[in-house]
Amino acid sequence: MNTEIFKLLPNESNNPSIKKAAEILCGGGLVAFPTETVYGLGGDATNPSAAKNIYKAKGRPSDNPLIIHIADPADAELYAYTSETYYKLAAAFMPGPLTVILPKKDTVPIEVTGGLDTVAVRCPSHPIARALIRKAGVAIAAPSANLSGSPSPTSGEHVIRDLNGRIEVIIDGGECDIGLESTIIKLDGERATLLRPGAITADALSCICKKVDIAPAVTESLKENERPLSPGMKYRHYAPKAPLILLDGDEEEVLSYMYRRQNAERCVIICYDEELEYLRNERIISIGARDDLNMQAHSLFSALRLADELDGEVVYAHLPSKEGVGLALYNRLIRAAAHTVLEV
Ligand code: AMP
Ligand code: MG
Repeated sequence: MNTEIFKLLPNESNNPSIKKAAEILCGGGLVAFPTETVYGLGGDATNPSAAKNIYKAKGRPSDNPLIIHIADPADAELYAYTSETYYKLAAAFMPGPLTVILPKKDTVPIEVTGGLDTVAVRCPSHPIARALIRKAGVAIAAPSANLSGSPSPTSGEHVIRDLNGRIEVIIDGGECDIGLESTIIKLDGERATLLRPGAITADALSCICKKVDIAPAVTESLKENERPLSPGMKYRHYAPKAPLILLDGDEEEVLSYMYRRQNAERCVIICYDEELEYLRNERIISIGARDDLNMQAHSLFSALRLADELDGEVVYAHLPSKEGVGLALYNRLIRAAAHTVLEV
């Protein structure tokens, strides 16, 4: 398949190519587009065959449901049964990087929800994403626009590398701001369960929800035969090709371990800016300053992809703290590392 690539600046939401992409999407085609979190691989959320094609293009198991993207929080009414708490959350965090799981209406085919009777709803803030949804006039079902198993794409280049020739359109809008996927929660009245941590933290959610529980699968590996609350939790994810090992210990011990390992053959080290002066070879990647969790979130998936390009035999990174946005970094890294942590 020939993939059309439209290169746009993030604020070019009136560019005619968005209308063209929306028409292709409404005709059943697939369009990758930028959001503030990561790139999405979009199809018409009411069209079962578009959903099937999304799974095919990504090589994603079809029991792993898709998030539907809407232009306005109230548009959720068309696809799901909302609640007072949903609207309180919408007032606080939407448009933005929050996905809410709600009971689904019949307008959403089960192909989109992987057979579940709930649907994941998100209202992105990226101007191109919003313009595309508005022009399409329908919700857009979109998982991350990467091949299944590889790190989520945070730039147009990442998407082109994974999906060129597999889908109709790629809108390249440059780098995503946040760089990690949305926070996902499930509601039970005024209580929320955090299924996937993201830029909207558990603390921020506690300002609106009476109680915020963190699903065990966010930090722990699933037990054999355990059914996850969110099907995506059971899949290996975000991983570079080489084994990733997370280093746990005090700052100096970890840096000293990295220092000793840095000249080992094809060893990639993902570190912080402050450590760069001690670590000097061509396979050192910094993801930002030690305390700048937002920058680390922004850089993480690029770093994991770069680790692949550097053809590492093994990749080392810090085990992040679980505080604030750190929990999202922890969740992605622990899964990319298949829970391999080395105490140093
Ligand atoms: P991605 O599309 O790659 O951002 O992944 C979407 C995530 O949302 C996956 O982990 C899914 O398992 C999760 N998800 C989507 N819909 C639902 C749902 N109805 N219930 C629980 N989790 C969901
Ligand atoms: Mg994904």
